[in-house]
Amino acid sequence: MTFMIQHYVNGQVLHSASGRQQDVFNPATGEVVAQVALADQDAVNAAVAAAKAAAPAWAETAPLKRARVMFKFKALLDAHHREIAALITREHGKVLSDAMGEVTRGIEVVEFACGMPQLLKSQFSDNIGGGIDNYNLRQPLGVTAGITPFNFPFMVPMWMAPLAIATGNTFILKPSERDPSCSLFIAELFKKAGLPDGVFNVLQGDKAAVDGLLQHPDVSAVSFVGSTPIAEYIYSEGTRLGKRVQALGGAKNHLVVMPDANLEQAVDALMGAAYGSAGERCMAISVAVAVGEVADKLVDALIPRVQALKIKNGMEADAEMGPVVTAVHKAKIEGYIADGVAEGAQLLVDGRGLSVPGHAGGFFLGGTLFDHVKEGMKIHREEIFGPVLCIVRVPDFASAVELINRHEFGNGVSLFTSDGNTAREFSRRIQVGMVGINVPIPVPMAWHSFGGWKRSLFGDQHAYGEEGIRFYTRYKSIMQRWPDSIGKGAEFTMPVAK
Ligand code: NAD
Repeated sequence: MTFMIQHYVNGQVLHSASGRQQDVFNPATGEVVAQVALADQDAVNAAVAAAKAAAPAWAETAPLKRARVMFKFKALLDAHHREIAALITREHGKVLSDAMGEVTRGIEVVEFACGMPQLLKSQFSDNIGGGIDNYNLRQPLGVTAGITPFNFPFMVPMWMAPLAIATGNTFILKPSERDPSCSLFIAELFKKAGLPDGVFNVLQGDKAAVDGLLQHPDVSAVSFVGSTPIAEYIYSEGTRLGKRVQALGGAKNHLVVMPDANLEQAVDALMGAAYGSAGERCMAISVAVAVGEVADKLVDALIPRVQALKIKNGMEADAEMGPVVTAVHKAKIEGYIADGVAEGAQLLVDGRGLSVPGHAGGFFLGGTLFDHVKEGMKIHREEIFGPVLCIVRVPDFASAVELINRHEFGNGVSLFTSDGNTAREFSRRIQVGMVGINVPIPVPMAWHSFGGWKRSLFGDQHAYGEEGIRFYTRYKSIMQRWPDSIGKGAEFTMPVAK
């Protein structure tokens, strides 16, 4: 019998009574490494009840004390950095060095949350008139929930939980059922850091767990990261039920190569951004937009590099790319490659049929490269989420900008150029939330905020940074005056400063 990955509620493992469970695979070998329990409504109710019970005391805890828990949590994460990365590689498949990077980017949000006493400082206006002062508070919402995708099982939960908790909320994480182990490791470390029971809880599961959280009247806010159809569903359902929702969705990120770009740097950038993590990143570059005469040179440089990718078990030190997450996902990507061929794109490197020695059961795919991809083809319209790079040729800069602005997604984008004015025009005109200039994957640092435009984000606030603090707190304005400064008599007119 394989190990069962359970829920974590009120500071301890909660054994599921639902009887529903799902296999968790090691994508490099194809073996089932564990089972994950899938929550029913009883488990949802238990998690929400624990989070609700812990909420008042935690909200009353001084921000400095909450921050001290974050400092200890950060030290524990540092101490267990490699262990967490290995867990990610085992269930997700990405190469260990990339998983180490994921852990670092998650820790950075914890570091940001350590500054919460400063970040929660409010504004005070002395004597706005008649002895009255006006100031504001940002107060926690109560029970908050986070629903996260498979592709960053550590980093994306860290976009949410440290900020939700350091601002005084309690939190329920519903991780992806495809790589659930990290969530329990996080829970253990929070407990060791001194976080009171019930402040951080984990609910394993699928749609039933998500719907249970969405429909529960005691959940005040939901953060979601995942694919666009589910993001849209979470947003419309959550807001209909009166919750605050931020729902980050899918992507189709373009990298524009101008004729004046440093070609070697652009090719390096495309290789890492298209094939790193087997293309399973919401900020992966999946379309290279070749402007004017640069196209042939770009294609010639890319082909041998894609063919030479070192594709191995992610635990091997020199692996550049690991497997994709499941056999089902692999088949879906292969379907997209077949669609691209059928629609007339030119398949320059075909990643199908790759076999990795000693890993016959693994979910491996080779790097795939298409040229002469046209706007509107399925492989340009839809998110493939695999190691497939499409080259679209355009005549000039304006056509590149228009192509990108017409696309339904607007998560990330990048421009490679040596011209400052081209870069400036691009940054201002492009309808995308995160822009890189000679930077292929412009994921904002923890003290900025992460989010796309158009159908890549539903809601008003981006994730983490100051937008994250706004999301997890309610603004309250307070006006005060004291008896000695109050004049005599009732006032029946609109009060104004005198
Ligand atoms: P997914 O949408 O399938 O799953 C995300 C979460 O939603 C999981 O926890 C899953 O259990 C839950 N879920 C799945 N189906 C559901 C349903 N019908 N009803 C309710 N909940 C459901 O996404 P994924 O495959 O895990 O992750 C990949 C996707 O996430 C890609 O589209 C990628 O672009 C996106 N993503 C976006 C960002 C971003 O910041 N915009 C970051 C990472 C990943």
